[in-house]
Amino acid sequence: MAPKPHYTPNHIPDPSYIRILDTTLRDGEQSPGAPMPAAEKLAIARQLAALGVDVIQPGFPSASSDDFNAVKAIAQEVGNAVDGDGHVPVIAGFCRCVEKDIAVAWDAVKYAKWPRLCTSIATSPIHMEHKLRKSKEQVIKIARDMVTFARSLGCVDVQFGAEDAARSDREFLYEILGVVIEAGATTVNIADTVGILMPFEMGKLIADIKANTPGIQNVIISTHCHNDLGLATANTIEGARAGARQLEVTMNGIGERAGNACLEEVVMALACKGYHVLGGLHTRINTTHILKTSKMVEECSGMHLQPHKALVGANAFVHASGIHQDGMLKHKSTYEIISPADIGLKRSTEVGIVLGRLSGRQALRKRLEELGYVLKEDQVDSVFSHFKSMAEKKKVVTDADLKALVSYKAFNLEPIWKLGDLQVMTCGTMGLSTTTIKLVTTNNSTHVACSIGTGAVDSAYKAINLIVKEPIKLLEYSLNSVTEGISVTSTARVVICRENYHTSTYAFNITYPTYSGIGTGMDVVVSSVEAYLVALNKLLGCKESFICAEKIQISE
Ligand code: MN
Repeated sequence: MAPKPHYTPNHIPDPSYIRILDTTLRDGEQSPGAPMPAAEKLAIARQLAALGVDVIQPGFPSASSDDFNAVKAIAQEVGNAVDGDGHVPVIAGFCRCVEKDIAVAWDAVKYAKWPRLCTSIATSPIHMEHKLRKSKEQVIKIARDMVTFARSLGCVDVQFGAEDAARSDREFLYEILGVVIEAGATTVNIADTVGILMPFEMGKLIADIKANTPGIQNVIISTHCHNDLGLATANTIEGARAGARQLEVTMNGIGERAGNACLEEVVMALACKGYHVLGGLHTRINTTHILKTSKMVEECSGMHLQPHKALVGANAFVHASGIHQDGMLKHKSTYEIISPADIGLKRSTEVGIVLGRLSGRQALRKRLEELGYVLKEDQVDSVFSHFKSMAEKKKVVTDADLKALVSYKAFNLEPIWKLGDLQVMTCGTMGLSTTTIKLVTTNNSTHVACSIGTGAVDSAYKAINLIVKEPIKLLEYSLNSVTEGISVTSTARVVICRENYHTSTYAFNITYPTYSGIGTGMDVVVSSVEAYLVALNKLLGCKESFICAEKIQISE
């Protein structure tokens, strides 16, 4: 990362460098339901510093004593912490164009190495008439006086914000901005407070201000875009293209109403396209901290992300359909414009594949390979068809499901024992489960046995053992509902081995073949018996050719 240029409030030596002002803790915190305690704000501010933002706007100090204390604590700590390349973030206190607000904000931020005051007043006819109830002349006078007052406190970094600039009269905007620049403002913030502009309009607004405002070449132009039409990121980028060199954003786009421009979207758009189509525009954001910051803000603000949120949503780097999964396996850039590692995401599978109803054969094969199964073509075919029928019943097919599926289906065994019937009896005063089992062999002979046990499944397994007369050790048994919520279908999974292998305890790392089976059905006892029979048939029919594959499985 290039070292940050020395900080001068009204000048950036590198003409393509973009300052990022993060207002997650001010505008973001104004989201309905998002207020955060001071300790959380401090933790987020530390993380914003690690992310490398140029300016942190941690609050509105005159809004409450809590906000004052949070801003002050952040100015004292984060505003003086030097990072690896000598960077210290500017700490910016938000205030209205009111003397008391400005004085209180200064008292909170003055402890920072680079304190800034961000004073703001509305400049649109609708706001001046109905909200401020002041004339244009009065608003210009207030703006000039308040910027002068801020400078008089000893603050050399004063931002003036034109609230609702998007709906302001252009000539009036040039005039008031010229006046505050003359009074000592070092950054002018152009707010699309209501999120009404189209991207080309935002670009034109910034270009017009740049071309017509007296003294504008001596200050930094900033944008502040809201997302009421879902255009905040696009408008922010257009603002930068037209000459804005500070962009106000929030993490996850939180903020008033539909929120602000998202830090992650603006920063990654510049990272992806800055050098190619945006004339070299760049930031100093350490993008590998994006995901961590996003999660922290999500947790602290309670503003949850939708799964398909760009970049930081749960699905942003997940591929579910067969065609996409096939493409991803062949080359990651087929469906990904950004490496997930660039924003700090580590995926459990290399190419972000979730196996489910839409997954294709190649994705299944790849995942099986990752799990240690190298199967022949016909084995993959067999597993795939069973995988598809399982995926129809289950949203996501997990690794555990796959392991069970492979060990059963890949080898197309002819079962030696099939379930004929079963009956469980639990009535009476003894409280013992009793199961009667009828098994049928390949040559259609039937065998019946009955056993007691601690429960229905236990007594059924014991009855099977009486018929099969093979020393079996049950290593694992699990039962999962296939459908979420009130389950109608359950899947039992068992893993067994021959009893005599288990007695060979002379070596610690002895490997012995294990056999697993799954059974799916409406009745948990029937599912459990089917799973047991699948595993048992594999054990009994075990041939040299697939001992290998089973050995792979026990290394899991
Ligand atoms: Mn705002």
